[in-house]
Amino acid sequence: MSKVVKFGGSSLADAKQFEKVANIIRSDKDRAFVVVSAPGKRFKEDTKVTDMLYGCYESAAKGEDFSKVFEKIEERYRDIISALGLGVSLEKEFERIRQAFIGRAGRDYAASRGEYLNAIIFADYIGYDFIDASDVIFFREDGVLDSEKTQEVLSKELKKHKNAVIPGFYGSMPNDTVRTFSRGGSDITGSIVARAANAEIYENWTDVSGFLMADPRVVESPRPIEVITYHELRELSYMGATVLHEDAIFPVRLAGIPINIRNTNRPEDCGTMIVASVDPNKDNALDAVITGIAGKKGFSVITLEKDMMNQELGFGRRLLEVLEKNNISFEHLPSGIDTMSVVLNTSDIAGNEKHLQDQICRAVDPDSISFEDGLALIAVVGRNMRRAKGTAARVFDAVSNAGVNIRMIDQGSSEINIIIGVSEHDFETAMRAIYKEFIS
Ligand code: ADP
Ligand code: ASP
Ligand code: MG
Repeated sequence: MSKVVKFGGSSLADAKQFEKVANIIRSDKDRAFVVVSAPGKRFKEDTKVTDMLYGCYESAAKGEDFSKVFEKIEERYRDIISALGLGVSLEKEFERIRQAFIGRAGRDYAASRGEYLNAIIFADYIGYDFIDASDVIFFREDGVLDSEKTQEVLSKELKKHKNAVIPGFYGSMPNDTVRTFSRGGSDITGSIVARAANAEIYENWTDVSGFLMADPRVVESPRPIEVITYHELRELSYMGATVLHEDAIFPVRLAGIPINIRNTNRPEDCGTMIVASVDPNKDNALDAVITGIAGKKGFSVITLEKDMMNQELGFGRRLLEVLEKNNISFEHLPSGIDTMSVVLNTSDIAGNEKHLQDQICRAVDPDSISFEDGLALIAVVGRNMRRAKGTAARVFDAVSNAGVNIRMIDQGSSEINIIIGVSEHDFETAMRAIYKEFIS
């Protein structure tokens, strides 16, 4: 059985990284299908090629001269080709893309060229076939992945190749234009390819030795997680642990294929295994109550008060209907007897607060209503929380003892997560306090 391997932007940022990646692939002949991202950052202040492409296309779409930025993009690829001494030339491709920019081929098309070009180079370097994602990954008219068609065409195509390199991040629309997934979407492509190849494993190679218990930019040297379930991972990645795209688990989960997060710069580390479930009798993480912590800023909360709210039939429905009509989805809905709060993404309501407030007042006639922004949410996630008594109390104590006021609490009904809301200023302090409480 084959393995599908996906390498992220930092793993393929320059020629030196290309060499590391090739060594990893060659060290295991089962690593048959390779999904690549566009070249990422080579150093901290560097710019990802994808961001350069977005910027460049923006200029092109405004009719401005975009040649300077475009040349910089070309240079990133030329540097890799010449440092590796490859025979492949991208000059014709560059010209075609430049013309397409002038012809306003679209933002998604522009962004997708980062992985497209990188895959051509990498296929040449490693000596594998190149398969264009446009020919094998399909979106429906509404922009959602057409998983059936993709599975059918892609699995058939893969059977024709012993080895192949496939660009991540994009596919094609029914009218043949290019569409991308959201940012970080090469992880999804890797998962789709793993399912179509019926792979034994989907290895996702990045720049950290697996999924860490907390964001390394907030908590210093957090511990790696050895084993995590799809469910736990989804909770964490949705809440900002961006090491793997939050939608990347779906295709492999359908097929029961485990994901292994690995570090391109430390291939000897075993990384994190993401699995469907863990047998409690064999769960060597049983002592660890929590699996990980993640959080995000940028939330707002609308709080409504009304006497006897609990007896008013349809209060919640009417409130949510207002949101639905405004095309706003909500994150959490903590409620009491006479109060109800809705937590939303601030960016979804920005500029529209007054209008929304009027509509809500008309729909449910509250005694009071308030809007507050600057909320950060933190999710404490763990499959073993169900079993361990007092986990919530430990979270609250740790946060309060750090001098942070908890503005909202929500325990997921699956009992694998506790979510707290704190002021954005307290976000880092709260994250570190929770980490320290459970891991010392
Ligand atoms: P790639 O370019 O390989 O797709 P990403 O930048 O998308 O890599 O994801 C890896 C990064 O995710 C890490 O470098 C790290 O900064 C960040 N990250 C955030 N939360 C976590 C976490 N809990 N565990 C590991 N990495 C995390
Ligand atoms: N290159 C794309 C991005 O920067 C997709 C990816 O890396 O997964 O978002
Ligand atoms: Mg990524």
